Amino acid sequence: GSTIGIIGGGQLGRMLASAAARLGFRTLVLDPDPDCPAAQVANELVRGAYDDLAALRTLAERSDVVTYEFENVPVAPLRALGTATPVHPPIEALEVAQDRVVEKAFLNGIGIATAPWRAVDDPQELDHALLDLGGDCILKTRRLGYDGKGQATIAAGGPHDDVFESLGSVPAILERKVPFVREISVIAARGQDGGFQAFDPAENVHRMGILSRSTVPAEVADASAEAAVATARAILDRLRYVGVIGVEFFVAADGALLVNEIAPRVHNSGHWTEAACTVSQFEQHVRAVAGLPLGSGERHSDCVMENLIGSEVERAAALLAEPRTLVTLYGKREARAGRKMGHATRLAPRKGI
Ligand code: ATP
Ligand code: MG
Ligand code: MG
Repeated sequence: GSTIGIIGGGQLGRMLASAAARLGFRTLVLDPDPDCPAAQVANELVRGAYDDLAALRTLAERSDVVTYEFENVPVAPLRALGTATPVHPPIEALEVAQDRVVEKAFLNGIGIATAPWRAVDDPQELDHALLDLGGDCILKTRRLGYDGKGQATIAAGGPHDDVFESLGSVPAILERKVPFVREISVIAARGQDGGFQAFDPAENVHRMGILSRSTVPAEVADASAEAAVATARAILDRLRYVGVIGVEFFVAADGALLVNEIAPRVHNSGHWTEAACTVSQFEQHVRAVAGLPLGSGERHSDCVMENLIGSEVERAAALLAEPRTLVTLYGKREARAGRKMGHATRLAPRKGI
């Protein structure tokens, strides 16, 4: 069998490595932490920082294809590797997803609607942008935000004197706060032959900026679900993408969609696929990057996926005792507050077929 190199050894890398092993691949994971979640599952760990060119070279030389589990992989060292070992998804997808301004400009440029936004590089620009956009707004750092970190809400006409500084005085984006009725996401895949498969949209609830629960099917009209999948497909095609992507949407009361952000990787709101689909998002990603045929996105059950965050992991034993519940734990020792420790997916017979 051949070897898949994975940059990043968190829980996503761990679940990718498991899926790869099931299909007969060897996995090599690059991570600075020898105790990272993926280390227990991968065949080998290459220890190094994500921007350590020597470590990246080792990974690439010993792999047949390189992929990644998070969107903040430094682009310059990855490019410096050259083309001897293919990198999937494409580095261009990282460049788009790493910067919220580049991301929104890309989406709007291909006709995909987002929240109204302005780039903000200093406090004066924030004043102007607030007047321009009007209403409640959210200031976000352009780069490196996740789980709602690096964001501040500014109420319409409210005080905002120190908000730019409070985010570290780094390049930022101001977004109008969208009055959505729900949030959904589409996990989709594009193969090396341009083939496309999507899973059904999941309806997502966040708590304190962190995904808490994903429910499938989402309570949206068929037309909205179809539009969301078509949007994901347009993004994948434009990026000549290979692999799995997560696309997050806001759904308005009338069913209209805005894209919130894209994640060029397997996605937390797709964890339910391991329980409710024959081929999970993790296997789908492995299939895509390895040039195998994509699996069907078909879903055999309805389901609710719950994240086990921090001390919630103590519920694992009770969840394991439930029938029709699949529990996945990430092997992290310390259940620190806000840390994703595992997840559980409850299945129910699929309605409406
Ligand atoms: P992730 O962990 O998904 O990468 P993130 O830190 O990149 O999260 P966002 O997805 O931008 O953050 O925002 C987190 C959540 O905050 C969204 O899922 C949504 O609930 C809320 N939110 C973000 N932007 C807006 C907006 N413009 N209008 C209304 N709510 C928003
Ligand atoms: Mg994000
Ligand atoms: Mg998000």
